[in-house]
Amino acid sequence: MKVNILGTMIDNISKENALKTLFNFINSEKTQTIYTPNAEICMEAYKDKTFQQVLNGGSLVIPDGQGVVLASKILKTPLDEKVAGFKLILSLLESNKPVSIYLFGSKPDVIKRAVSFIKKNYSKVTIVGYRNGYFSDEEIPLIINDINKSKAQLLLVGLGAPKQELFIHQYKESITSNVIMGVGGSIDVLAGEVKRVPEIFVKLSLEWFYRLIKQPKRLSRMLKIPVFICVCYKKRLFGN
Ligand code: UDP
Repeated sequence: MKVNILGTMIDNISKENALKTLFNFINSEKTQTIYTPNAEICMEAYKDKTFQQVLNGGSLVIPDGQGVVLASKILKTPLDEKVAGFKLILSLLESNKPVSIYLFGSKPDVIKRAVSFIKKNYSKVTIVGYRNGYFSDEEIPLIINDINKSKAQLLLVGLGAPKQELFIHQYKESITSNVIMGVGGSIDVLAGEVKRVPEIFVKLSLEWFYRLIKQPKRLSRMLKIPVFICVCYKKRLFGN
């Protein structure tokens, strides 16, 4: 079932079912797309209807953050739980199933470290290719060719939002991977470039605070979250 968060349709799904769905997608014939909007991204989509349509075209759209879950409660259509994109990838890696993955995104040295980390810790998974996320338009056909040549079942795209979603939407027909997933800064976390949020901050729903003290340059992006919550309250009180 989908829940409408200011026009962005989010799947109400448990973490377990999201993982099952990901494996079903990996074994499906048609290319499937996965997006992981958080509150900032939902706010962007609320303002930019073209971007919102892109998100709504995803095969699976998971609520990546407590902000989205809170919004769903304010709007009286509660989502059961947060399903973080990073955790979904981690669960896939930890499931110890043979999956071939192409990593696309983040800085050149960072992606190399993420690839080494996966190779060292998850022997069943095969990294069949990787490419950093800084490229010109002219390079796109070469990148797609490299992805297709690798025959990756799963393509993880970490270019940040909305760049990764727009890329996936524009090129999904030319890409032969079974699943294409937007992963934001997850490649940075796998590389150890950005620290994972400690569990205590997650339990207290203070992930945003931890991210803010670690990466103060995110402040302007994070200011969108209270605005987003206010818009949700306004919608609840006054409708459209
Ligand atoms: N990035 C990229 N190409 C670009 C812009 C950004 O590969 O042209 C990468 C950047 O190096 C980082 C990720 O995209 O790895 C964005 O991370 P951020 O934490 O902003 O994403 P979020 O998880 O918040 O969406």
